[in-house]
Amino acid sequence: MEKWRREQRRTFTSMEKLADFLELTEEDRGRLLDRKDFPLHVPYRIAMKMEKGSLVGALALQFLPLDLEGEEDGGALDPVGDGAAMRCDSLLHKYEGRALLLTTSACAMHCRYCFRQNYPYTQGVEDALHAIGKDSSIREVILSGGDPLSLSDKALKDIFLSLEAMDHVEIVRIHTRFLVGIPERVTRGLLDIFEKTSMQVVFVLHVNHVEELDEDIFEALKGIQLLGIPVLTQTVLLRGVNNSKSVLYNLFMRLVKRGVIPYYLHQFDQVKGAMHFETSKDEGRNLIRALRDCMPGYAVPTYVQEVEGESSKTLVH
Ligand SMILES: *Cc1c(COP(=O)(O)O)cnc(C)c1O
Ligand code: SF4
Repeated sequence: MEKWRREQRRTFTSMEKLADFLELTEEDRGRLLDRKDFPLHVPYRIAMKMEKGSLVGALALQFLPLDLEGEEDGGALDPVGDGAAMRCDSLLHKYEGRALLLTTSACAMHCRYCFRQNYPYTQGVEDALHAIGKDSSIREVILSGGDPLSLSDKALKDIFLSLEAMDHVEIVRIHTRFLVGIPERVTRGLLDIFEKTSMQVVFVLHVNHVEELDEDIFEALKGIQLLGIPVLTQTVLLRGVNNSKSVLYNLFMRLVKRGVIPYYLHQFDQVKGAMHFETSKDEGRNLIRALRDCMPGYAVPTYVQEVEGESSKTLVH
């Protein structure tokens, strides 16, 4: 079995086991929520980095289902209008020239703020690939999900081969959070797919806090960078996790020091059950302004929001 598959098996899915591992008090255990529809899913690497006996760290807040999820009002099941943008099963087409392929519902981890936690995933990408093939306005295909790196190398290779056969598809972009949990996923086989394709690959990692990063992850990214593939990141602004100047500064500086460019900072998408993560746009604007004063321009991502019906991501000025 491949090393990354072995790592995948070390994911915590039992609340009991994770609570024991984190040495939580009885009181804190009482705060954990059993969400059958979006259950606990925390890779060992992430659990290892969590502070013992605490529910308030940046990692605990992002990955542990807490009572907060059941208590609040507001938020939508589909906050960004994915439903309205469905071209066919597994294909979202919102913006000119770019289409987004929902390759799988599986992820390496379950992030409590996920705006697609209620998405009615369907199986298979055949119809979606067929539709992309017939639409020559699509120049770039974004592999998303779920997490596209949950797929096997074989399944990914098949998607790449199909896209490559379409002359109009020139760029394939991967949006993934997988490496934060399982950097072992960047296998020689995966790099081979990226290296051999005639399309330009662009790699976007989702990362919200510097504690999520480590040397193994940067090593994995280096393998991708060495192929001439731009490695960018995307971050969601999350209350209690990263809504502070120093936290964002440390994250973005750590990334640029390894040649990884922060692409987007996303205003939180108002998804039901995660509204406790929301910050105000004023707070976000102030953070961005403060960062621009003390960082290289390329280290400060573009602050955007996804507004249903708009023809692109909306800049938060
Ligand atoms: C965010 C998004 C894209 C990509 O937008 P960029 O601004 O090019 O990064 C494409 N399609 C969908 C459906 C998206 O949500
Ligand atoms: S990895 Fe991405 S798609 Fe999966 S749960 Fe986290 S935010 Fe959602």
